[in-house]
Amino acid sequence: MNYSELAPAYIRAIAPYQPGKPISELERELGLTGIIKLASNENPLGCSPHAVTAMHEAIKTIALYPDGNGFELKDALAKRYRVAHNQVVLGNGSNDMLELTARAFLSPGDKAVYSDHAFAVYPLATQAVGATGVSVPAINFGHDLEAMRNAAVEQGAKLIFIANPNNPTGTYLSGDALHKFLRALPANILVLLDEAYNEYLPVECRYDSVSWLREFPNLIISRTFSKAYGLAGARVGYALANAQVADMVNRVRQPFNVNSVAQAAAVAALQDEDFVRQTFELNQRGMKQITQGLSKLGLEYIPSFGNFVSFKIKDAARIYRRLLESGVIVRPIASYDMPEYLRVSIGLETENQKFLSALQQILGE
Ligand SMILES: *Cc1c(COP(=O)(O)O)cnc(C)c1O
Repeated sequence: MNYSELAPAYIRAIAPYQPGKPISELERELGLTGIIKLASNENPLGCSPHAVTAMHEAIKTIALYPDGNGFELKDALAKRYRVAHNQVVLGNGSNDMLELTARAFLSPGDKAVYSDHAFAVYPLATQAVGATGVSVPAINFGHDLEAMRNAAVEQGAKLIFIANPNNPTGTYLSGDALHKFLRALPANILVLLDEAYNEYLPVECRYDSVSWLREFPNLIISRTFSKAYGLAGARVGYALANAQVADMVNRVRQPFNVNSVAQAAAVAALQDEDFVRQTFELNQRGMKQITQGLSKLGLEYIPSFGNFVSFKIKDAARIYRRLLESGVIVRPIASYDMPEYLRVSIGLETENQKFLSALQQILGE
């Protein structure tokens, strides 16, 4: 028998997430060494040394279950953001927050709205619970908030996903635009504001979304330790929300969804503001280096507010493969309906240079 038929039709219809190619896989395939990965928006500086120390310490009690309530991490987050413990939900990466929010609030027949070219997990999380995704056309690759609100109201959607900045486009919405959007939205439509790249926003672009939670009980903010904090492998993220919303999300959470090593790492990482600043500054310089390099090669890119940039290139799939052969892993984004683009993460200066040199050589062939 065909066992896939035992799954509901909405599960069979899911197009699986395509992760960036791991270095070890490319090593096996091509027998190359010195490969660089600029494909998953990881932190090229690694993580805070304090987080490493905390992880070593936490390993000693690995035989014990983690704190299922994540008290210390919640406490650190609650203090940092001036919210109550019961407004914090911890996740196995912020990906978990997206899935859990969908699971808590959507059932088959419900609708969730997101933008074209938005983060791939929004349709995945929506489809996994049998709900229907409504993808709204973008403006210059960015979210069209007004159209998203209209679509949500017209279609009776329960949840809107917003990524700011968005991955893979790097596009950004100002705090004013978001606040205005929230004010005009009926209060019974939930908004998941995904701020995975929040720490990379230039100072003049920052806004205090956490302070909006009092005004908008339908707002859920999700953040992660995977990007600027450099803990992608540890899998830890969190959501901040109204206590009733947080309570519902917590009910569908696995009791021990964030492991003890990850919790310890996140507590230490959160305190290391110097590391986050260094990360930010390296990214600012690297973004300039890569975008100027792309311009020199005559390539167009979408101005980005994250730690990655998507650029337009003819034969993107072929260029991607040629870059792999040169030991540089970037990300094809055809699955985001952007077949003529590739996304490159900002790396160390030497990595950025290696990427630009390889690209220049390939374009000259
Ligand atoms: C990377 C990313 C995430 C989540 O990553 P986690 O590792 O699961 O925290 C969430 N949203 C966007 C837009 C991202 O790019």
